[in-house]
Amino acid sequence: MNATLLSPPDAPAAADAPVVAASDSLAPAPAGVSVPHTVPLEEIADYMSHLLKHREIGDYPGAHNGLQMENRTGTVTRIAAAVDSHERVLQRTASTGADLLLVHHGMLWSAGGPCTGAAFRKARTCLDANLAVFSSHLPLDAHDQLGNNALLARAIGLPSPQPFFVEKGTPIGRRAEVDWSLDELLDRLGIALGGEPLIVHASGPGDTLEESIAATRVRRIGIITGGAGNSLREVAAEGIDTFVTGEGRHDSFGTAVELGVTLLYGGHYATETFGVKALAEHVAERFGLPWEFVDVPSGL
Ligand SMILES: [Zn+2]
Repeated sequence: MNATLLSPPDAPAAADAPVVAASDSLAPAPAGVSVPHTVPLEEIADYMSHLLKHREIGDYPGAHNGLQMENRTGTVTRIAAAVDSHERVLQRTASTGADLLLVHHGMLWSAGGPCTGAAFRKARTCLDANLAVFSSHLPLDAHDQLGNNALLARAIGLPSPQPFFVEKGTPIGRRAEVDWSLDELLDRLGIALGGEPLIVHASGPGDTLEESIAATRVRRIGIITGGAGNSLREVAAEGIDTFVTGEGRHDSFGTAVELGVTLLYGGHYATETFGVKALAEHVAERFGLPWEFVDVPSGL
């Protein structure tokens, strides 16, 4: 990942990034003990919010893009990335020693309620582990280089993917023109997602699904990572004949049949692992920190 390419115009270059001393003590670390590189949490959070255009890009009220949970020290030595921020993710992350977790689905979708039950336990897990949480929802779907959609499009080799499907004022999906068999698309998706997608409907003629798959061509493909199956009508109205998304409601099958659109569900989780990994990799490289992906698949 090229850090220069991703640098916003007024962001400091990596080499200029101020680095806080790892310890308040002036005494050198004992021989053989490595002092972790430490970066102010606020500096990393501001950098990511700027990079992802959090101020400019609209989102749902519960998204709360940006820093959702501070940590006690206000510093970062190790980054983790995950798709979600439910209790199991936070517990796994706490065991990694990370002090900053980057997620796509934040902790505050139901914010405003009492800090009891799971909400309290999650806050306690973060505080006990000195774990900050930063979330980016639609901005991380839409980003040209780090976004879920751009990266899934790249992973399956879409030629010249273009932004499409405006959500809260920003086109988040990617579309492209190809001339592939459906089998070829399924192969590409299987490799990119680590498993073949669910074939909800193949639009080619045939008495069985197998016959329809064999008879289906893919020409105008649209990708929207996550849960956009219920937006099939809007997607079809944009001329898409093959729609790849994460998941959707039961009635999306009937809608796909009636519209004659091939509909594939690659999994909400599987289609949205790309952005957080890319963001963590980029930020870790820029600030000289280690990172890891905390994989807690939902199976959906
Ligand atoms: Zn999602």
